[in-house]
Amino acid sequence: MSFIPQQALMQAAGYIDTYYSRTLPDQGLRPVLQGEVDCDVCVVGAGLAGINTAYGLSERGQNNLIVIDEHRIGWGASGRNGGFVAKGYSAGEAELAERLGLEPAQRLVALTQQGRQIIRDRITRHQIDCGPLTPGVLTVSWQNRPGVFAAKVEEANRNFSLGLEYWPMEKVRDHCRTERYFDGVFSPHDFQFHSLRYVHGLAQVVEQRGGKIFENSKALAITQEGSFWRVKTPEGSVRARQIVVCCSIYAQGLEPRLERAAFPVQTYVMVTDPLDPVDLAGSINTSHAIYDTRFASDYYRVLPDRRIMWGGRVGLWAPPHNLSALMFRDLLKVYPQLAGKTQPQMAWSGLLCYAPHKMPQIGELAPGYWYNMGFGGHGLVPTTVGGEVVAAALTGTDQNYKLFAPFGLSYAGGRLGRYVAQLVYWGWRGRDILEGLKEARV
Ligand SMILES: Cc1cc2nc3c(=O)[nH]c(=O)nc-3n(C[C@H](O)[C@H](O)[C@H](O)COP(=O)(O)OP(=O)(O)OC[C@H]3O[C@@H](n4cnc5c(N)ncnc54)[C@H](O)[C@@H]3O)c2cc1C
Repeated sequence: MSFIPQQALMQAAGYIDTYYSRTLPDQGLRPVLQGEVDCDVCVVGAGLAGINTAYGLSERGQNNLIVIDEHRIGWGASGRNGGFVAKGYSAGEAELAERLGLEPAQRLVALTQQGRQIIRDRITRHQIDCGPLTPGVLTVSWQNRPGVFAAKVEEANRNFSLGLEYWPMEKVRDHCRTERYFDGVFSPHDFQFHSLRYVHGLAQVVEQRGGKIFENSKALAITQEGSFWRVKTPEGSVRARQIVVCCSIYAQGLEPRLERAAFPVQTYVMVTDPLDPVDLAGSINTSHAIYDTRFASDYYRVLPDRRIMWGGRVGLWAPPHNLSALMFRDLLKVYPQLAGKTQPQMAWSGLLCYAPHKMPQIGELAPGYWYNMGFGGHGLVPTTVGGEVVAAALTGTDQNYKLFAPFGLSYAGGRLGRYVAQLVYWGWRGRDILEGLKEARV
């Protein structure tokens, strides 16, 4: 499976202009919800959290379900991300072990290892054209402290059976031709893909099994009617025994308890023009996806048509007008040899939904009223986990969702949350700069 974008492909209708929307084959618009309809389960939000929930339900035989989205399937972060399919949560393994104890942390991390495999299996089983599934994510260090990094890798493998490989500086620099990086850790089982195509592929399966999906159908209000819930939209409503809200950070005005519990973080991606293979070999000499270990990290990968997709930075409100140029400057800081060899072609922003505890928020607000959100910067695998545990809970299959109970709906700072997020990010960048200066003096 592979996709090669063609200039002729237009941005798919209803999406912002991204590499993904330009390389999404025509899916056809789903209908707008009209009139009053009944079903067993209504899922609100058709990002990966919502579609994974719907898929999990359909897999367990619950097909009397309706998914509604304010925009289109995968319109939010699920159709705008870096495409890294990596195990784990925004809160790292060591942090989880410290907070919960080793055994509960192991169970949570094991869910993401299964989640990553579930994604592969679904792609194969339904022949979802979202590849190539290029293997491997390499995390590189900006600091020359080989003993520290190697010990962390050894500990992570011992405690969580992650199968990580420690890479010395020479090996890292063979893959990444830059003096910025020192040693690294390689995760061979992680991979990269086209997430907008993936979420559409899952949505088609949900529909083939009998589920219904409505686009451009915003949930305006949720009310209780006896043992049912009613979700009102501009042109109709859904009455369901159970509902699952999967609106990420966009639930403003819909459910104050969810709105208060998360803050939005805006982050960015830039894509260059295609590069000459020789220039790539002299810079990003690898097909693996790359993260770095700074608090405010860059993450990037080479796309199938030899463009570089470069992600990073965090912003408060509207994206800067010179976003492409800023992101390209970040790229040149790492790979100055690419100056004049390519240029930015497009850049876009997306909103992340962060909880203060950096873990997904999964649970039941009232009998039959569920939520599945808070997937922060690390959501492609955890949304699979969220969909599975919620679907299992709704169909009475298992109670794994209770593993997420320690991470409730704590107050996220209200409107101040955004400012706090920006201040934290600036603090992180400041620390990165100080670390860099210290490194230069050594
Ligand atoms: C720039 C960027 C890069 C990223 N890179 C990576 C990466 O490389 N790897 C990784 O694992 N994660 C990455 N992430 C995070 C990952 O994309 C998210 O965690 C994940 O997609 C969240 O899925 P979601 O369904 O919760 O939210 P979303 O995809 O945002 O979906 C929410 C949906 O709810 C709908 N909605 C909202 N309000 C309503 C309403 N009232 N009624 C009906 N529908 C509504 C929206 O239209 C939207 O479609 C990245 C995110 C961004 C923004």
